[in-house]
Amino acid sequence: MPIDATVYRGPHEMQVEEIDDPELQGPNDAILEITTAAICGSDLHMYEGRTTIDEGRVFGHEIMGVIDEVGEGVESFEQGDRVVLPFNVACGFCRNCVDDYTAYCENADSETPGGVYGYAQMGPYQGGQAEKVRVPHVDFNALELPEGEEHEDDYIMLADVFPTGWHACELADLRAGESVVVYGGGPVGLMAAYSAKLKGAGAIYLVDRVESRLELAEEHCDAHTVNFEEEDPTEVIPEIHGGKVDKGVDAVGYQAIDGGRHADDAYDKSRENPSQVVNDLIGTVRPTGKVGVVGVYFSSDPNPPEHVEEPGELDVRFGSLFESALNVGTGQCDVKRYDRRLRNMIEEGRAEPSFLVSHRVGLDEAPEMYERFDEREEGVTKVLLKP
Ligand SMILES: [Zn+2]
Ligand SMILES: [Zn+2]
Repeated sequence: MPIDATVYRGPHEMQVEEIDDPELQGPNDAILEITTAAICGSDLHMYEGRTTIDEGRVFGHEIMGVIDEVGEGVESFEQGDRVVLPFNVACGFCRNCVDDYTAYCENADSETPGGVYGYAQMGPYQGGQAEKVRVPHVDFNALELPEGEEHEDDYIMLADVFPTGWHACELADLRAGESVVVYGGGPVGLMAAYSAKLKGAGAIYLVDRVESRLELAEEHCDAHTVNFEEEDPTEVIPEIHGGKVDKGVDAVGYQAIDGGRHADDAYDKSRENPSQVVNDLIGTVRPTGKVGVVGVYFSSDPNPPEHVEEPGELDVRFGSLFESALNVGTGQCDVKRYDRRLRNMIEEGRAEPSFLVSHRVGLDEAPEMYERFDEREEGVTKVLLKP
Protein backbone atom coordinates (compact mmCIF):
# COMPACT_ATOMS: atom_id res chain seq x y z
CA MET A 1 0.00 0.00 0.00
CA PRO A 2 1.67 3.27 -1.06
CA ILE A 3 1.52 6.24 1.30
CA ASP A 4 1.37 10.00 0.71
CA ALA A 5 4.52 12.01 1.43
CA THR A 6 5.92 15.52 0.92
CA VAL A 7 8.73 15.10 -1.60
CA TYR A 8 11.48 17.55 -2.64
CA ARG A 9 11.57 18.06 -6.41
CA GLY A 10 14.19 20.81 -6.64
CA PRO A 11 14.55 24.35 -5.27
CA HIS A 12 11.22 25.85 -4.22
CA GLU A 13 9.37 22.75 -5.36
CA MET A 14 7.66 20.39 -2.94
CA GLN A 15 5.11 17.85 -4.12
CA VAL A 16 2.77 15.48 -2.35
CA GLU A 17 3.38 12.11 -3.98
CA GLU A 18 2.74 8.45 -3.33
CA ILE A 19 5.80 6.55 -2.13
CA ASP A 20 6.34 2.93 -1.09
CA ASP A 21 5.05 1.92 2.31
CA PRO A 22 8.06 2.01 4.70
CA GLU A 23 9.19 -1.43 5.88
CA LEU A 24 11.04 -2.71 8.91
CA GLN A 25 14.73 -3.04 8.00
CA GLY A 26 16.03 -4.47 11.26
CA PRO A 27 14.77 -6.16 14.43
CA ASN A 28 14.94 -2.90 16.41
CA ASP A 29 12.92 -0.82 13.95
CA ALA A 30 9.33 0.32 14.16
CA ILE A 31 6.92 1.83 11.70
CA LEU A 32 5.17 4.93 12.99
CA GLU A 33 1.78 6.05 11.78
CA ILE A 34 2.12 9.82 11.88
CA THR A 35 -0.53 11.98 13.54
CA THR A 36 1.38 15.29 13.40
CA ALA A 37 4.51 16.45 11.57
CA ALA A 38 5.85 19.99 11.53
CA ILE A 39 7.66 22.09 8.93
CA CYS A 40 10.89 23.44 10.42
CA GLY A 41 12.79 26.62 9.65
CA SER A 42 15.82 24.46 8.97
CA ASP A 43 13.84 22.67 6.20
CA LEU A 44 13.92 25.98 4.34
CA HIS A 45 17.68 25.80 3.69
CA MET A 46 17.01 22.58 1.75
CA TYR A 47 13.83 23.93 0.17
CA GLU A 48 15.75 26.92 -1.23
CA GLY A 49 18.36 24.66 -2.81
CA ARG A 50 21.07 25.77 -0.40
CA THR A 51 22.13 22.25 0.62
CA THR A 52 23.25 19.09 -1.14
CA ILE A 53 19.99 17.18 -0.57
CA ASP A 54 18.85 15.00 -3.50
CA GLU A 55 15.59 15.38 -5.34
CA GLY A 56 13.10 12.73 -4.36
CA ARG A 57 13.75 12.88 -0.60
CA VAL A 58 10.87 13.16 1.83
CA PHE A 59 11.40 16.06 4.25
CA GLY A 60 10.29 16.17 7.89
CA HIS A 61 12.23 15.60 11.11
CA GLU A 62 9.57 16.78 13.59
CA ILE A 63 7.35 13.76 13.91
CA MET A 64 4.88 12.17 16.31
CA GLY A 65 2.29 9.47 16.05
CA VAL A 66 1.22 5.99 17.03
CA ILE A 67 3.34 2.85 16.65
CA ASP A 68 1.97 0.72 13.83
CA GLU A 69 4.41 -2.19 13.75
CA VAL A 70 7.53 -3.25 15.66
CA GLY A 71 10.50 -5.50 14.84
CA GLU A 72 11.04 -8.69 16.83
CA GLY A 73 13.82 -7.16 18.98
CA VAL A 74 11.78 -4.19 20.19
CA GLU A 75 11.15 -4.34 23.93
CA SER A 76 9.59 -1.12 25.17
CA PHE A 77 6.96 -0.30 22.57
CA GLU A 78 4.04 -2.06 20.95
CA GLN A 79 1.40 -1.29 18.38
CA GLY A 80 -0.84 1.56 19.51
CA ASP A 81 1.70 3.39 21.70
CA ARG A 82 1.75 7.17 21.25
CA VAL A 83 5.25 8.63 20.87
CA VAL A 84 7.21 11.66 19.70
CA LEU A 85 10.57 11.18 17.93
CA PRO A 86 13.68 13.25 18.64
CA PHE A 87 14.82 14.59 15.26
CA ASN A 88 18.16 12.84 15.89
CA VAL A 89 18.44 9.25 14.68
CA ALA A 90 20.81 7.63 17.20
CA CYS A 91 21.94 4.12 18.11
CA GLY A 92 22.12 4.50 21.88
CA PHE A 93 25.36 2.58 22.39
CA CYS A 94 28.21 4.38 20.57
CA ARG A 95 30.66 6.59 22.49
CA ASN A 96 28.79 9.80 21.70
CA CYS A 97 25.32 8.40 22.45
CA VAL A 98 26.53 6.99 25.79
CA ASP A 99 27.87 10.44 26.66
CA ASP A 100 24.46 12.04 25.84
CA TYR A 101 25.65 13.48 22.50
CA THR A 102 22.90 11.78 20.52
CA ALA A 103 23.07 14.41 17.76
CA TYR A 104 26.53 13.03 16.94
CA CYS A 105 25.83 9.29 16.85
CA GLU A 106 28.77 7.47 15.28
CA ASN A 107 26.58 4.67 13.97
CA ALA A 108 24.23 6.90 12.00
CA ASP A 109 24.65 6.01 8.36
CA SER A 110 25.99 9.45 7.38
CA GLU A 111 29.17 11.27 6.28
CA THR A 112 29.47 13.27 9.50
CA PRO A 113 28.43 11.91 12.92
CA GLY A 114 24.69 12.15 13.54
CA GLY A 115 21.53 11.20 11.71
CA VAL A 116 18.31 13.14 11.06
CA TYR A 117 15.07 12.10 9.37
CA GLY A 118 14.75 13.68 5.92
CA TYR A 119 17.76 15.99 6.11
CA ALA A 120 20.79 17.00 4.02
CA GLN A 121 24.14 15.39 4.93
CA MET A 122 22.55 13.55 7.86
CA GLY A 123 22.04 10.04 6.55
CA PRO A 124 19.60 8.30 4.24
CA TYR A 125 16.60 8.36 6.60
CA GLN A 126 13.29 9.29 5.02
CA GLY A 127 11.40 12.19 6.53
CA GLY A 128 8.09 12.20 8.32
CA GLN A 129 6.02 14.77 6.46
CA ALA A 130 4.17 11.69 5.33
CA GLU A 131 1.60 9.17 6.52
CA LYS A 132 4.21 6.80 7.94
CA VAL A 133 7.93 6.64 8.66
CA ARG A 134 10.48 3.98 9.64
CA VAL A 135 12.04 4.52 13.07
CA PRO A 136 15.47 2.88 13.57
CA HIS A 137 16.39 1.76 17.13
CA VAL A 138 12.92 2.68 18.34
CA ASP A 139 13.55 1.65 21.97
CA PHE A 140 16.13 4.42 22.15
CA ASN A 141 14.67 6.92 19.70
CA ALA A 142 11.04 7.29 20.75
CA LEU A 143 9.69 9.13 23.77
CA GLU A 144 6.49 7.72 25.21
CA LEU A 145 3.52 10.05 25.61
CA PRO A 146 0.24 9.75 27.48
CA GLU A 147 -2.48 8.00 25.46
CA GLY A 148 -5.08 10.02 23.62
CA GLU A 149 -4.86 13.31 21.81
CA GLU A 150 -4.30 15.76 24.63
CA HIS A 151 -1.49 18.35 24.20
CA GLU A 152 -0.79 17.09 20.65
CA ASP A 153 0.37 20.54 19.50
CA ASP A 154 2.61 20.93 22.56
CA TYR A 155 4.18 17.48 22.35
CA ILE A 156 5.15 17.89 18.68
CA MET A 157 7.44 20.73 19.82
CA LEU A 158 9.47 18.09 21.72
CA ALA A 159 10.79 16.70 18.42
CA ASP A 160 13.06 19.68 17.85
CA VAL A 161 12.23 23.30 18.55
CA PHE A 162 11.52 23.21 22.30
CA PRO A 163 14.59 21.08 23.20
CA THR A 164 16.71 23.06 20.69
CA GLY A 165 15.66 26.36 22.28
CA TRP A 166 16.39 24.89 25.71
CA HIS A 167 19.75 23.57 24.43
CA ALA A 168 20.71 27.06 23.23
CA CYS A 169 20.23 28.33 26.79
CA GLU A 170 22.23 25.37 28.16
CA LEU A 171 25.09 26.07 25.72
CA ALA A 172 25.05 29.65 26.97
CA ASP A 173 24.92 28.32 30.55
CA LEU A 174 22.02 30.66 31.28
CA ARG A 175 21.32 30.97 34.99
CA ALA A 176 18.33 32.43 36.83
CA GLY A 177 18.50 36.20 36.95
CA GLU A 178 20.89 36.58 34.03
CA SER A 179 20.12 38.65 30.94
CA VAL A 180 20.09 37.12 27.47
CA VAL A 181 19.70 38.21 23.87
CA VAL A 182 18.19 35.83 21.31
CA TYR A 183 18.83 36.52 17.63
CA GLY A 184 16.04 35.09 15.48
CA GLY A 185 12.33 34.96 16.26
CA GLY A 186 11.45 31.87 14.25
CA PRO A 187 10.22 28.82 16.16
CA VAL A 188 13.65 27.99 17.63
CA GLY A 189 14.39 31.58 18.64
CA LEU A 190 10.98 31.88 20.28
CA MET A 191 11.55 28.58 22.09
CA ALA A 192 14.96 29.82 23.27
CA ALA A 193 13.35 32.98 24.67
CA TYR A 194 10.54 30.87 26.21
CA SER A 195 13.11 28.50 27.74
CA ALA A 196 14.98 31.52 29.13
CA LYS A 197 11.75 32.64 30.78
CA LEU A 198 11.13 29.14 32.22
CA LYS A 199 14.71 29.12 33.52
CA GLY A 200 14.10 32.40 35.34
CA ALA A 201 16.20 34.73 33.21
CA GLY A 202 16.38 38.37 34.27
CA ALA A 203 15.96 40.41 31.10
CA ILE A 204 15.23 38.73 27.75
CA TYR A 205 15.80 40.47 24.40
CA LEU A 206 14.75 39.08 21.02
CA VAL A 207 15.86 40.37 17.62
CA ASP A 208 13.97 39.75 14.35
CA ARG A 209 12.23 41.70 11.59
CA VAL A 210 8.79 40.01 11.42
CA GLU A 211 6.25 41.85 13.56
CA SER A 212 4.09 38.81 14.37
CA ARG A 213 7.15 37.03 15.76
CA LEU A 214 8.14 40.01 17.87
CA GLU A 215 4.59 40.14 19.25
CA LEU A 216 4.71 36.46 20.26
CA ALA A 217 8.04 37.08 21.99
CA GLU A 218 6.58 39.96 23.97
CA GLU A 219 3.36 38.19 24.82
CA HIS A 220 4.62 34.69 25.68
CA CYS A 221 8.30 35.12 26.55
CA ASP A 222 8.22 38.50 28.33
CA ALA A 223 10.91 39.65 25.89
CA HIS A 224 11.96 43.17 24.93
CA THR A 225 12.08 43.11 21.14
CA VAL A 226 14.25 44.81 18.55
CA ASN A 227 13.45 45.01 14.83
CA PHE A 228 16.87 44.97 13.16
CA GLU A 229 15.48 46.66 10.03
CA GLU A 230 14.80 49.72 12.15
CA GLU A 231 17.51 49.68 14.79
CA ASP A 232 20.99 48.24 15.19
CA PRO A 233 20.71 45.71 18.04
CA THR A 234 24.37 46.19 19.00
CA GLU A 235 23.59 49.84 19.75
CA VAL A 236 20.07 49.71 21.07
CA ILE A 237 20.31 46.68 23.41
CA PRO A 238 23.23 48.01 25.51
CA GLU A 239 21.37 51.32 25.60
CA ILE A 240 18.07 49.87 26.91
CA HIS A 241 19.77 47.37 29.18
CA GLY A 242 22.38 49.71 30.56
CA GLY A 243 25.30 47.72 29.23
CA LYS A 244 25.85 44.47 27.40
CA VAL A 245 23.86 41.37 28.37
CA ASP A 246 25.23 38.26 30.10
CA LYS A 247 24.37 35.61 27.55
CA GLY A 248 23.39 35.22 23.89
CA VAL A 249 21.74 32.82 21.45
CA ASP A 250 22.06 32.50 17.68
CA ALA A 251 18.83 31.00 16.35
CA VAL A 252 19.36 32.26 12.80
CA GLY A 253 22.35 30.56 11.16
CA TYR A 254 24.18 31.17 7.92
CA GLN A 255 21.32 32.71 5.94
CA ALA A 256 21.23 35.74 8.24
CA ILE A 257 20.03 39.05 6.83
CA ASP A 258 22.15 42.18 7.24
CA GLY A 259 19.80 45.09 8.03
CA GLY A 260 22.31 47.41 6.37
CA ARG A 261 22.02 45.72 2.95
CA HIS A 262 19.04 46.74 0.86
CA ALA A 263 16.96 45.00 -1.81
CA ASP A 264 13.32 44.96 -2.94
CA ASP A 265 12.69 41.55 -1.40
CA ALA A 266 13.45 41.44 2.33
CA TYR A 267 14.98 37.96 2.05
CA ASP A 268 16.86 38.55 -1.20
CA LYS A 269 20.14 36.65 -1.21
CA SER A 270 22.02 39.88 -1.79
CA ARG A 271 21.07 40.85 1.80
CA GLU A 272 22.63 37.77 3.38
CA ASN A 273 25.70 37.90 5.57
CA PRO A 274 26.59 34.50 7.07
CA SER A 275 28.60 36.01 9.93
CA GLN A 276 26.05 38.73 10.78
CA VAL A 277 24.60 37.13 13.89
CA VAL A 278 27.88 35.88 15.35
CA ASN A 279 29.37 39.36 15.02
CA ASP A 280 26.22 40.96 16.48
CA LEU A 281 26.50 38.59 19.44
CA ILE A 282 30.09 39.67 19.96
CA GLY A 283 28.73 43.22 20.00
CA THR A 284 25.92 42.62 22.53
CA VAL A 285 27.22 40.01 25.00
CA ARG A 286 29.43 41.26 27.80
CA PRO A 287 33.06 40.21 28.20
CA THR A 288 33.31 36.72 29.78
CA GLY A 289 29.75 35.98 28.66
CA LYS A 290 28.61 32.82 26.92
CA VAL A 291 26.86 32.24 23.63
CA GLY A 292 24.88 29.27 22.29
CA VAL A 293 24.78 28.83 18.51
CA VAL A 294 21.95 26.56 17.36
CA GLY A 295 21.09 28.29 14.08
CA VAL A 296 22.30 26.02 11.29
CA TYR A 297 25.66 26.46 9.53
CA PHE A 298 26.90 24.17 6.74
CA SER A 299 30.46 23.51 5.58
CA SER A 300 29.36 24.11 2.00
CA ASP A 301 26.63 26.00 0.15
CA PRO A 302 25.99 24.95 -3.45
CA ASN A 303 24.14 28.17 -4.22
CA PRO A 304 25.69 31.04 -2.22
CA PRO A 305 25.06 34.79 -2.64
CA GLU A 306 27.40 36.37 -5.18
CA HIS A 307 29.18 38.53 -2.60
CA VAL A 308 30.05 35.58 -0.35
CA GLU A 309 33.41 34.40 -1.62
CA GLU A 310 34.09 31.35 0.51
CA PRO A 311 30.80 29.68 1.46
CA GLY A 312 31.14 27.81 4.74
CA GLU A 313 33.85 30.20 5.99
CA LEU A 314 32.80 33.00 8.29
CA ASP A 315 34.17 36.49 8.54
CA VAL A 316 34.03 36.46 12.35
CA ARG A 317 35.59 39.25 14.41
CA PHE A 318 37.71 36.74 16.26
CA GLY A 319 39.96 39.38 17.81
CA SER A 320 36.97 40.96 19.58
CA LEU A 321 35.74 37.52 20.59
CA PHE A 322 39.12 36.76 22.14
CA GLU A 323 39.44 40.14 23.83
CA SER A 324 36.01 39.60 25.42
CA ALA A 325 36.89 36.03 26.49
CA LEU A 326 33.54 34.90 25.11
CA ASN A 327 32.65 31.23 25.29
CA VAL A 328 30.82 29.92 22.25
CA GLY A 329 28.93 26.63 22.27
CA THR A 330 27.68 25.26 18.97
CA GLY A 331 25.91 22.37 17.39
CA GLN A 332 22.65 20.56 16.93
CA CYS A 333 20.60 19.68 19.95
CA ASP A 334 20.88 16.27 21.56
CA VAL A 335 17.13 16.05 22.00
CA LYS A 336 17.13 13.02 24.30
CA ARG A 337 19.08 14.94 26.90
CA TYR A 338 16.03 17.15 27.54
CA ASP A 339 12.85 15.77 25.97
CA ARG A 340 11.66 13.66 28.91
CA ARG A 341 11.91 16.54 31.37
CA LEU A 342 10.31 19.01 28.96
CA ARG A 343 7.48 16.52 28.33
CA ASN A 344 6.86 16.44 32.08
CA MET A 345 6.60 20.22 32.13
CA ILE A 346 3.96 20.06 29.39
CA GLU A 347 2.08 17.27 31.12
CA GLU A 348 1.95 19.27 34.35
CA GLY A 349 0.81 22.42 32.55
CA ARG A 350 4.02 24.30 33.38
CA ALA A 351 4.99 24.76 29.72
CA GLU A 352 2.77 25.35 26.72
CA PRO A 353 5.02 25.67 23.67
CA SER A 354 2.07 25.35 21.25
CA PHE A 355 1.67 29.13 21.38
CA LEU A 356 3.91 29.01 18.31
CA VAL A 357 1.43 27.12 16.17
CA SER A 358 -0.21 29.27 13.53
CA HIS A 359 -1.45 26.69 11.02
CA ARG A 360 -2.78 23.12 11.14
CA VAL A 361 -3.31 21.74 7.66
CA GLY A 362 -3.57 18.48 5.75
CA LEU A 363 -0.59 17.03 3.90
CA ASP A 364 -2.01 18.23 0.58
CA GLU A 365 -1.43 21.84 1.66
CA ALA A 366 2.25 21.29 2.52
CA PRO A 367 3.66 22.70 -0.78
CA GLU A 368 1.70 25.93 -0.35
CA MET A 369 2.71 26.25 3.31
CA TYR A 370 6.39 25.77 2.40
CA GLU A 371 6.09 28.70 0.04
CA ARG A 372 4.38 30.94 2.60
CA PHE A 373 6.72 29.99 5.46
CA ASP A 374 9.72 30.56 3.18
CA GLU A 375 8.49 34.08 2.48
CA ARG A 376 8.28 34.63 6.26
CA GLU A 377 4.71 35.73 5.67
CA GLU A 378 3.31 37.63 8.66
CA GLY A 379 1.51 35.20 10.95
CA VAL A 380 2.99 32.02 9.48
CA THR A 381 4.98 31.04 12.56
CA LYS A 382 4.76 27.27 12.85
CA VAL A 383 2.97 24.95 10.46
CA LEU A 384 1.69 21.55 11.57
CA LEU A 385 0.77 18.90 9.04
CA LYS A 386 -1.89 16.34 9.91
CA PRO A 387 -1.42 13.40 7.52
ZN1 LIG B 1 13.31 21.17 13.08
ZN1 LIG C 1 25.19 6.28 18.61
